[in-house]
Amino acid sequence: ASLAKLDDAVPAPNRTQDRNRPAAAMPNHGFANTPDTDPALPANRAWGRAILERIPGSTAGNAIVEASKVRDAQELDRIIATAVENGKAWGAMPAAERAAILHRAGDILESRRAELLEVMASETGKTIEQGDPEVSEAIDFAHYYAERAKDLETVDGATFVPANLTVVTPPWNFPVAIPAGSTLAALAAGSAVVIKPAKQARRSGSVMVDALWEAGVPREVLALVQLEERELGTQLVSHPSVDRVILTGGYETAELFRSFRQDLPLLAETSGKNAIIVTPHADLDLAAKDVVYSAFGHAGQKCSAASLVILVGSVATSARFHNQLVDAARSLKVGYPEQATTQMGPIIEPANGKLLNALTTLGDGETWAVKPEKLDESGRLWSPGIRFGVKRGSYFHLTEFFGPVLGVMTASTLEEAIAIQNEIEYGLTAGLHSLDSDEMGVWLDTIQAGNLYVNRGITGAIVQRQPFGGWKKSAVGAGTKAGGPNYLVGLGSWLPAEPAA
Ligand code: GLU
Repeated sequence: ASLAKLDDAVPAPNRTQDRNRPAAAMPNHGFANTPDTDPALPANRAWGRAILERIPGSTAGNAIVEASKVRDAQELDRIIATAVENGKAWGAMPAAERAAILHRAGDILESRRAELLEVMASETGKTIEQGDPEVSEAIDFAHYYAERAKDLETVDGATFVPANLTVVTPPWNFPVAIPAGSTLAALAAGSAVVIKPAKQARRSGSVMVDALWEAGVPREVLALVQLEERELGTQLVSHPSVDRVILTGGYETAELFRSFRQDLPLLAETSGKNAIIVTPHADLDLAAKDVVYSAFGHAGQKCSAASLVILVGSVATSARFHNQLVDAARSLKVGYPEQATTQMGPIIEPANGKLLNALTTLGDGETWAVKPEKLDESGRLWSPGIRFGVKRGSYFHLTEFFGPVLGVMTASTLEEAIAIQNEIEYGLTAGLHSLDSDEMGVWLDTIQAGNLYVNRGITGAIVQRQPFGGWKKSAVGAGTKAGGPNYLVGLGSWLPAEPAA
């Protein structure tokens, strides 16, 4: 078990780190991805309908949220001190013992799948269809990191020393899988955790944490905090006892965290502005389906979502492909998650600022192929939008919007399309639709993004199979890929062996 080499401990957001690893170095450790719920089975459909009925008026997670509200700076200091103190014993435990608890956490998350789907839907509007794979991902993180932790203890004679305290600040868009992944990684590595769920997704994060407590992670080792005051958030992130901060959020948030504390040991997955390139060698039917799902799944509120599609050569003038995109977007049923017919759910918060602008105004030379419409007074429900004629260097080309709007750009050659994407300052996900292996080679060698998908949608990374992490401004700090073999290495340091006398 000498998978994690010392070299890998050097933090480098590098898209090749997992891709170039020889298959033999990626043993399965008996790990298998958890299957999603199969809606083809009548019993599962009945189970799903029962969840839909519970969504309106759901109070899941409320009590845990209330109990974890932190009132003042002294209380937060005490929580941090307790975690630091109890983290020592947790880190000193043999990895196999921690792993047993984390495997149990995976099982408990599975047993609470319905509750997790209910709370995500009622709190953030996530549909069951989108939420189900998210719960599977959380379960995968538990089992996967549990096994990986066993590799860590001694590598090439050096000893792994876990971070003592890790602070986890997850986003609202994957309100179970992302907080679960970050928390489970830190716990697996042997660190105590203080987690502060995003304010839009407190109940979801709290139910997830409750499942980990139920599995036997002590509350003193895994502290859940809800912070109403901004100052308390700053106190938590910049506290000198904190050894690691795992952030998933906007690039600006990472910058802000850094401004609190210059030497902040940050592992951050940040913004994205992602494109799918479609060449004349693509299976266009498949491309249309993947583009629409990647752009409008969860109403585009994924760092990984497709915000641009770049059509190369004859695809740019293909009326058939244009019509397919437009028809597919128009046919999407938009609604709230409790309606069984909903395919695209609401925006988590009423659209405002940049997103509202993207939903309502066009740039120079742009036209609406599908015009987004506000569907109710809440401002949360919008039909999807597709704009043609997005120009290179324009606002829409370069800005992240995080909502259900897709921009269509064109290029004469694949190389030009790649240049268009590489002009963007972020590099999170990228997609190529082409059946031509030369084109795949060119694209793989030159596209600047952390997660590369060929002939597939660009959302929905899968633990172990497709570790997830960004490049350029999509990662800040020590970014290795979540759900990959090196993630835990960033959650501690190595103590070199004494040279033999
Ligand atoms: N891991 C998610 C995916 O692959 C995206 C996470 C995010 O939006 O931050 O779709």
